Amino acid sequence: MSGIGIRKDDFVVVNSGKERGKKGKILKVLLDKNRVIVEKVNFVKKHSKPQSESKQGGIIEKEGTVHLSNVMLFCEKCGKGVRVRNKYLEDGSKVRLCAGCGESFD
Ligand SMILES: [Zn+2]
Repeated sequence: MSGIGIRKDDFVVVNSGKERGKKGKILKVLLDKNRVIVEKVNFVKKHSKPQSESKQGGIIEKEGTVHLSNVMLFCEKCGKGVRVRNKYLEDGSKVRLCAGCGESFD
C-alpha cells in the first residue's frame, strides 16, 4: 500500500471501521507504521498522571492513529473519498489528481 500519497494537512474521509464517514485534516503521518492521525477522528481516552501537586491527573481525550488503508483523500467536487492519480508535469514535479474528476489536490 505504498504510494498512497497522503500528506500532512490533507483533508480525508474515513472509509471503514467505526469512524466511517468522518472527515478531518491529517495531523500527522506515521510512515513507518502506515498510519495517520486525523483531526477529531478516533478519539481515545488516555490517563494522564499528575504532573505536580498543582496539576491534576485525569482522563484526556486524544486522537488515536488510523491505518492508511482506512482513509481516502476527500474531493470537494466529488463530495466523497476518492482515489488519487499522479501526474508528472513538464518540470518533473508531481501533482496529485482526483481519479474521479481530475481536480488537483496540490
Ligand atoms: Zn473529484
